[in-house]
Amino acid sequence: MQSLGGLVQRVASPGGCCIHKQLGWGPAAAAAAQHRRSVQLHAKRPQKVPTVEKLEWQAPLQVIKYPDPRLRAPNARIGVFDDSLRELAKQMFEVMYQDDGVGLAAPQVGVNVRLMVFNETATPGSPEETVLVNPVIIEKGRATDVDVEGCLSFPKIYADVERATKIEVQYQDLDGTKQQMQLRDFVARVFQHEYDHLQGVLYHDRMKAAELEKVRPELLALEEAFIAAHPDVAIQRVPPPAAAKAKGFGSIAKR
Ligand SMILES: [Zn+2]
Repeated sequence: MQSLGGLVQRVASPGGCCIHKQLGWGPAAAAAAQHRRSVQLHAKRPQKVPTVEKLEWQAPLQVIKYPDPRLRAPNARIGVFDDSLRELAKQMFEVMYQDDGVGLAAPQVGVNVRLMVFNETATPGSPEETVLVNPVIIEKGRATDVDVEGCLSFPKIYADVERATKIEVQYQDLDGTKQQMQLRDFVARVFQHEYDHLQGVLYHDRMKAAELEKVRPELLALEEAFIAAHPDVAIQRVPPPAAAKAKGFGSIAKR
């Protein structure tokens, strides 16, 4: 249940992907605070990370949940375009559809590489299925809109996020061929959400303070559940409310 509104114009893509239509952001985490500071929210290019020549992952894939530290770990560039990459993308689609999602990034299934899949129609096998390997944003329009987003790594948590409405991206397809395409509105939003995952950025990082406060109890509940199940794993927790931070660190204590 839920939804992401917004029109999506059909746009041509040299890569042969057909982007159009949408409805519904289906129900669409030992990096710690230090890594968070290194995350560039507005980075236009991927972080300097190694390139993997062999993909390693275990089937069946499972969506990992916030605050799993793999959602904050660096994601390697993919340097291998073989059957293992095709199979990984195929299984990512399957997991995504199972959860009624319209987009999924590889770190969400615990594979820290720069790969994302999306299909704004959420219809298995439809022509809108898109696989982007090593994507890069080469241009981002100034215009933005605000709409509700969900994330498969944050079950049933929805909140408003501001995104650019038009972006131009470069990527490689499953054959390793360089492609470029322009994305608008809903699809641009889906791409930016998934691209953030490749940068170790999560959607609540981008929520305005008031919006973040609305979902804070649910984020804390996920954190507590994770800590209970993995007491020895270091996690990055949601930062405290701005007001509380100011009190603790910015103002002089009154006696
Ligand atoms: Zn997500």
